[in-house]
Amino acid sequence: MKEDKKQFETEAIRTQIESTHAQEHSTPMYLTSSFTYEDAEEMRAAFAGENDKNIYSRFSNPNLQEFVDKVCTMEKAEAGYAFASGMAAIFSTFAALLSSGDHIISCRSIFGSTHTVFGKILPKWKIDTTYVDIDNTGDWDKAIQPNTKILYVETPTNPAVDIIDLEWLGRFSKKHNLILVVDNCFATPYLQQPIQYGADLVIHSATKFMDGQGRVMGGVTVGKKELIDEIYAFSRSTGPALSAFNAWVISKSLETLAVRMDRHAENALKLAKFLEKSEFVEWVKYPFLKSHPMYEVAKKQMKSGGAVVAFGIKGGLESGRTFLNNIKICSLTANLGDSRTIVTHPSSTTHAKLSEEERIKVGITPELIRVSVGLEHITDIITDIEQALKAAQ
Ligand SMILES: *Cc1c(COP(=O)(O)O)cnc(C)c1O
Repeated sequence: MKEDKKQFETEAIRTQIESTHAQEHSTPMYLTSSFTYEDAEEMRAAFAGENDKNIYSRFSNPNLQEFVDKVCTMEKAEAGYAFASGMAAIFSTFAALLSSGDHIISCRSIFGSTHTVFGKILPKWKIDTTYVDIDNTGDWDKAIQPNTKILYVETPTNPAVDIIDLEWLGRFSKKHNLILVVDNCFATPYLQQPIQYGADLVIHSATKFMDGQGRVMGGVTVGKKELIDEIYAFSRSTGPALSAFNAWVISKSLETLAVRMDRHAENALKLAKFLEKSEFVEWVKYPFLKSHPMYEVAKKQMKSGGAVVAFGIKGGLESGRTFLNNIKICSLTANLGDSRTIVTHPSSTTHAKLSEEERIKVGITPELIRVSVGLEHITDIITDIEQALKAAQ
C-alpha cells in the first residue's frame, strides 16, 4: 500500500504501471505470453524470485499488476491475484487454502455456482460446508467444528439483498480463529471495504460492476499477504489467471467505478421508492430503504445501497413470468452489474431446477423479481417496469 494515500476516485484513475519509452498516456496492452532477459544472470534471478521481473503471463503480467494494484488500493488490501472469472477466484482461493478434511461455514444464500463448488466439488476432497442463515446469527456458534477453517459470506446477498453486520462478523471470525472471506461483488470496493472490519480476504467477480458494461469476465482475490502468497503459488501452477486483454479492459473501467456506482445507486433508490408505492408490488427490499430489516447496518457499512433492488410482484409465479414477457427496454439476461438495467425472475429461470423448498431456504420466493438497475434515465426505467407490472396483473 502506498504511503501518500489519495482519495478513492483519484487512486482509481491514477494507479498506473510505469509508461514505456513511447511515453503513452493510457496504459498499453501487454499481449505477450512471456518476457525476456538481458542475460542468464537476470533470468536466473527472476526465476529465483530475487527481482520483480515478469516471467510468464500465467504468473504475472503488467496489465494484471495494474488491475490488482488498483483493487488492493480500493480495498485497503496488502496483496492480490487476478483470475479469469469470479468463480476461478472463488475456487482457487478455497483450493489453495484448504486441505482434505477442512470445514467451511457459509451463509446460505450465496451465488449459485459457489453453491455448486461447496456442495459438489469440494466434497470430492472431503471438504464440507455447513450453511448458516445470514439473518439469524444467534446460532452460528453451533456450526463451528474443530476443523472449521474458513467463514464465507456475501453481503448484500444475491438475489434477496440481505445484509450482515460486518463488524460483528469480523469479531466472530477473530474469536474463533477463522479465515474470513467476503464476496464483495454486489457492493464493490467503492461502497464497502470488508477488510476494515476484519475480513482476511475479499473476492470479486470483476465481470459485474468492475467491468460494468457486460463485456469481459474477470475475478480477483485481495487481502492478507501471507494468504495471497499461498493463492499465488497455487494459481501460478494451475493456470486460472486473467487474460491481459481483460485486465486492461477492467482496469480502465475501474477509473469510472465511483461515478457509475453513484448513478446506479441513485437510480436504484428512486426505483425502490417507486415500487414501495406501487399497488402491484407486495414488498420491496433495498439496503437504503428504511423498511430494510438491516437498514441501520447498511447505513453504517455501505456508502450507498448499491444497484440491486429485489421486490415481490403481486400474483406470484405466473405474474413474474408475464412481467418478464412484457418488459420492453430492460434486458432479460443472467448477468448483473451492467450499464443496462437487467430484470430477472429467479424462481422461473435461474433457480427453476431447485425444489420450491430449496428455493425458499435461500430466499427465492415465487414472487421475487431482481432488478440490477442500470444507467439509463431513471424515468425510462420506471416507465418500462411500471407498464410491465400493469400488464402482469
Ligand atoms: C457473478 C458472481 C460470481 C461469479 O463470478 P463470474 O465472474 O461469473 O465467474 C460470484 N459471486 C457473485 C456474488 C456474483 O454475482
